[in-house]
Parts: sequence; structure tokens; C-alpha cells
Amino acid sequence: MARTRSRHFFFPEALLADGWCKDVSLKLDAQGTIEAILVNSSPEDAVVVSGPVIPGMPNLHSHAFQRVMAGLSERGSGDDFWGWRETMYRIANQITPEQLKVIATQLYGEMLRAGFTSVAEFHYLHHRPDGRPYDNAAEMSLALLEAAADTGIGITLLPVLYRYSDFDQGAVEPCQRRFASTPDQFLELVDALIVATAQSYLAYTGIALHSLRAVSIEDIKAVTSSVVNLPVHMHISEQMAEVEAAIQHTGLRPVEWLFENLGVDNNWCLVHCTHLIEREINAIADSGAVVGICPITEANLGDGVLPAEELLGKGAKTGIGSDSNIDLDPIAELRLLEYGQRLVQQRRNILTTLADGQNLWQRCALGGAQALAQPVGVLQSGKRADFLVLDKDHPALVSRKCDHIIDSLIFAADRTAIRDVFVAGVKVVDAGMINRQEQRLHAYAEVVAVLS
Ligand SMILES: [Zn+2]
Repeated sequence: MARTRSRHFFFPEALLADGWCKDVSLKLDAQGTIEAILVNSSPEDAVVVSGPVIPGMPNLHSHAFQRVMAGLSERGSGDDFWGWRETMYRIANQITPEQLKVIATQLYGEMLRAGFTSVAEFHYLHHRPDGRPYDNAAEMSLALLEAAADTGIGITLLPVLYRYSDFDQGAVEPCQRRFASTPDQFLELVDALIVATAQSYLAYTGIALHSLRAVSIEDIKAVTSSVVNLPVHMHISEQMAEVEAAIQHTGLRPVEWLFENLGVDNNWCLVHCTHLIEREINAIADSGAVVGICPITEANLGDGVLPAEELLGKGAKTGIGSDSNIDLDPIAELRLLEYGQRLVQQRRNILTTLADGQNLWQRCALGGAQALAQPVGVLQSGKRADFLVLDKDHPALVSRKCDHIIDSLIFAADRTAIRDVFVAGVKVVDAGMINRQEQRLHAYAEVVAVLS
């Protein structure tokens, strides 16, 4: 599959900002940004794309290396998040920069195949396993950027500040040494990545704070005051044990403590937010921050079910992430998001009453775009041309009229209903196949054999 960009597309039907439109003509600039959209137009000399077209989904939370441990911690009675974390540390402490690039290249190809057209990579494997920096302190980060460039996915790389083992601000444990940095080391890495991504129209830099367990409020203030207008991501309120520890050490719940001490705004993405009370929900909704929901990972880790109805009902921004990368599928993430609410509340159409399936897709695509600080999430002038072409002959979509296409995609189909995927106007998935699929899988198989 040649990686060439078309500059002029014609879609018989496409989901634009205001809904489904017919006979859509899309003109792009040399970097794949949409210059003009016309509806009720004619194909002229455009590349005609047959099948319904929808915006690609940004993936707002990924730990690439965790893909290699998918399926390795699904046995043993009484296991929980903290047991899973031990397996994660064992794998994390073996991975070399070369292996990370192979893992991420395979992973990002799978993400594209599933309809994720960009990813926020929450990256904390910075140093050698004993904690000494690599000769180039950005070596592990660059492996991820190279993997993204190789596959053609958009990336917002989020180097993570990680300093302490817990709320008492004790030193990191030996198994956490390669994660740990001082704020000064961290800011040097951020600067290096800003330079590394400056010339790319697909790669961006943000920052992440691992969690309130792993950084202090003073650390957060120090780094956020040094980097203005970059995305700021953080794990928060994922586990009840974390909520209880925050109350014990600060007197407040994690989200309350964060908002009490910092000006959380629309640069922020708060990942998980599984355990919230009403005043935390109100604060998040009022802030403009994005809630990063990872339904499959949260289910896999037994985290709990977030109060999504209340969050969406209050107008909170939301997006979805594949997090531990146990499964890669935005369709399945949205389905589980809705089904989790139904199972808890014993009724139907909960988020879809607020938003319907189509609006849920659009809302999460826009929330994801905000979290990644990338011009994506909707097909309109000035945005990057990241889009999915659905298979109109898929049994779940055949003969469906526009209003029911995305409902049917989310609740009755799977990733095989996505036929082609374009990023910045470049076809990166063709009839369900990603570029150099077999070659990548072969390299990945060798890495998995070594690391498992
Ligand atoms: Zn995470």
C-alpha cells in the first residue's frame, strides 16, 4: 500500500459536524488539513470513497508497552489492580528501546485497524531498569515517536513525571526506578520532545503526572508553570484504595484535593475518574477538562463503573482510551461504557438517551481531540483529514439509514465494519489490512517470546 496523500475526496455520505450529509467533496492542503468542504457536490476529479465516512477516533490514553502483557494476568483467585501491577512491573523492567519500538509499531498498527487514528501515549519507561538515564535521555520516547511515524498514526507523546512510591512521598521502589525523574530531568525531556516533534504535523508533545501517589502538588505546580498551553494528563480516582489513601493523607478525595490546589482547566485530561461524588463531578464539568474513560481496562482491572450519566448530563467533556491495551477497539469501548451503566442501573439507553450513539461517537472524538491538542475529531475546514470508511455491506450496517449507522456500528458490529482508515488524507488501512502487517507481526512475535 503506497503511503501517498490524496488532495481531493468525494464521499457519497459523510458525518460532518452538523450530521450526515450527501455528496461531500473534501479538499486538503499538502499536509492533509481540510481546506474546504462542499456538500451536494459532484465527484469531478476526486478520489471517490464508497461507504459511509465518519471521523476517526482519538485514543486519549495508552501505555504502549503493556500490550505485550495482554492476557498474562488473567488467572489466580483474589487478584486485583495491585496484583496486576506486579506483572506489569516485571515486564516493564525488561524492555529495551528497540523492543519498545517493535511493540509500539505493532500496537499502533492495531489501533489504526480498529479506527483509532491518533493516540496520547502516557509514557513512563524513561530510564534503564536500574534508574540510570540512557545516553540520550529521550531514547525510549523517541522509540515511540518512530513507531508512530512508521505506522502513520497521529501521536501526542506525554512524558510522565513520577517521583514517589506513595502519598507519603517515600522513595520509589526498586521496580519503579526506571520511571522516576526529578522535575528538572523531566522538564529537560519535555524540551527535547518539543524539539523532536516541532516539524511533524502528526506528532505533538504534552505532559503527564502519573498520579497523586507519585507526585506532590508542589511538583505539579513547578512543571505546569514551566510548560504553558500543553496538554496535562493524570491518572486520578481509579481505585477506592487510592481515594481512601488521599483522604488519609490530605483530608480530601483525590479530585477535591487537585481542584483545591490547582487551576484545572481545559488543558487537563483526568484519566479514569471512576470514583466521584457530586461536588467532584460539578468541578470537573465546570473546568472544561476532559475525563479520559477507559471502559475495557477499567473492567479488566475491576476498577468500578464511573458515574458517566451524571458527568455527561452535566456537560463534562469525555473521550476514550485503550489504556492497558488489553483490547483495541473504540466501538467496544463505547459499547461497554453504555452497557456498564445499564448493568448498574438496570435500565436501557442511558448515555444514548443523553447523546445517542452517533452523538456519543462525536462527543468522544471531540473530547479526545481536545485531550491530544490535535486538530482532529470532526470533519471540517481547518481540521486534519482523519476519517474511517465503513463497510456498507457489513451485516450490521447493510441497508441502514444515516441516523442508525453509528448506533448499529456501536451495538451490533465490531472493528471488521471499518474497511479503510485515513490519517491526514493518507490511506493507512486498506480493506482491513495495515501496511507491512506480516513483517511487523513477525518482529513482534520475537519480542513477545523474549518478554513473556
Ligand atoms: Zn493508565
